[in-house]
Amino acid sequence: MPLKYHGGPTVPAITPCDLMTRLYIYADDSLRGREAGTPDAMRATAYIESQVRQLGLRPAGDHGSYFQNMSVTARSVTTASTITANGKTFRADRDFVLSAPPADRKVSGTVIFGGTLGDTTNELTADHANGKIVVVMAPAGGQGFFRRAPGSANPLSGAAAIVTVATTLPKPRFQPTLNDTVQNTGRAAYAASHPQEANARGRGGFGGAGLNITVTPQVASALLGKSVEGAALGDAGRSATINIHVRTVAAPTRNVVAILPGTDPTLSKQYVVIGAHADHIGVSGARPVVEHDSLKAYNEVARVEGADTRNAPAPTAEQWVRINTIKDSLRKIYPPRLDSISNGADDDGSGSVSILEIAQAFAQGPVKPKRSLIFIWQMGEEKGLWGSEWFTNHPTVPRDSIVADLNLDMVGRGAATDITGKNKAGEELKGANNYLQLVGSRRLSTELGDIAESVNSSQPTPFTFDYSMDANGHPQNIYCRSDHANYARYGIPVIFFTTGGHADYHQVTDEPQYIQYDHMARVDKLVFDIATHVADLDHRVVVDKTKPDSPFARCQQ
Ligand SMILES: [Zn+2]
Repeated sequence: MPLKYHGGPTVPAITPCDLMTRLYIYADDSLRGREAGTPDAMRATAYIESQVRQLGLRPAGDHGSYFQNMSVTARSVTTASTITANGKTFRADRDFVLSAPPADRKVSGTVIFGGTLGDTTNELTADHANGKIVVVMAPAGGQGFFRRAPGSANPLSGAAAIVTVATTLPKPRFQPTLNDTVQNTGRAAYAASHPQEANARGRGGFGGAGLNITVTPQVASALLGKSVEGAALGDAGRSATINIHVRTVAAPTRNVVAILPGTDPTLSKQYVVIGAHADHIGVSGARPVVEHDSLKAYNEVARVEGADTRNAPAPTAEQWVRINTIKDSLRKIYPPRLDSISNGADDDGSGSVSILEIAQAFAQGPVKPKRSLIFIWQMGEEKGLWGSEWFTNHPTVPRDSIVADLNLDMVGRGAATDITGKNKAGEELKGANNYLQLVGSRRLSTELGDIAESVNSSQPTPFTFDYSMDANGHPQNIYCRSDHANYARYGIPVIFFTTGGHADYHQVTDEPQYIQYDHMARVDKLVFDIATHVADLDHRVVVDKTKPDSPFARCQQ
């Protein structure tokens, strides 16, 4: 597919061509990866709003508009922040970077060398790390290449700070927070009444009580009193002081919500939600900046699930041959091009333009369902399912009038060459021409799952549904990782549609040129027909399974 494409006006029918037209706009570099809390995301939602306005849908946001605003603040570390060691003072952004902690922090302590992050055969014990400033080297490929297994003890969890050495500092990033009092109050009350769950495993991370600092080799040398190359595991360094100042500002963030009114006077007071997430992860701060086709070649061979790849070993000699063959073939088509924008063409540009296309088909086509439809573009899924959390906590229609949520997140891939995930046993899953994953479709309503099957069987080319990722206790925990989870927690039946993972997942290579537009159009037609069927039923889809005991309980797949 081309790198750039400008289509003409879209037509009422759901077509691959329209999806292509829309996605080349929505995942273009000019929107800079649509990160929630940035002006880029505001421009992305302005595009969606202009489209639903043209379609004549009814506004269902705040104050008669299509926008539903959320309270979001963004923290950043100021350049007044310092690390002092060995008589030298180092400054934030020039000598070190870190994610802003919730408030100003000052930490003094002795320094210890912790070896290479992720080398679990040669690491400090918790006794050695507790209360110390631990200096570690990054694993090959950077911090992102290591994740501790879920539930395993982290010996660095009691460290005062974790300091990772990098020859090139990543770009400083802001830390956004959704300030949702309904959520915070609900969570606190639930935790108070369920102390044993509150104590269950947290989210892991690198430890260091929230201070994870990346520093230049010069800072590391001052901390250790010697170069990192000359340090051995457990070597004591000097005492040091880390003084972090945080600035907090408002960061405008909004959902887009639009209604197609139902035709039945009574049933139109009930709603079927069709949703996607409007945001992605923005501009990568990784340094050095990667070359697009080199990364593409590497990931296609050696990191086949993109950022979801767990602890991939270094490529073998044979794999390097394949990586270089792919890279060289691409080099004949394109000159080297540095790329720092995570365009999110599939994630979730595909879902965002799909529901625009579905909305256009309902607004301008012959099918007019009895119940009303809510189209929602949820902002901040990548930050922790914000948009759906906000909408379900602050619904703009009565919450119990919502009969189902159909969520589209990553519906643009699923080719035979894509590794779409792993089953619970750890075996790789692959796409196919008729490939579609369904997640959660029978977790609250057997009837809803059955409807999806029967509507699918009447499609011109039915999909083969892959339910592998929906297994109870699946380690990838997909059921809890997209916006439908916030509807399900309130007992609203959901279906999560996705063509699954791939090597471009959360990479700068997730671009419109790699999307399967025909496949995506067929997914959208299926969702259109399922939505019509659910919206026209003479009863609400029956909830016959157990609801979560609280909307504020931790999601459990
Ligand atoms: Zn997504």
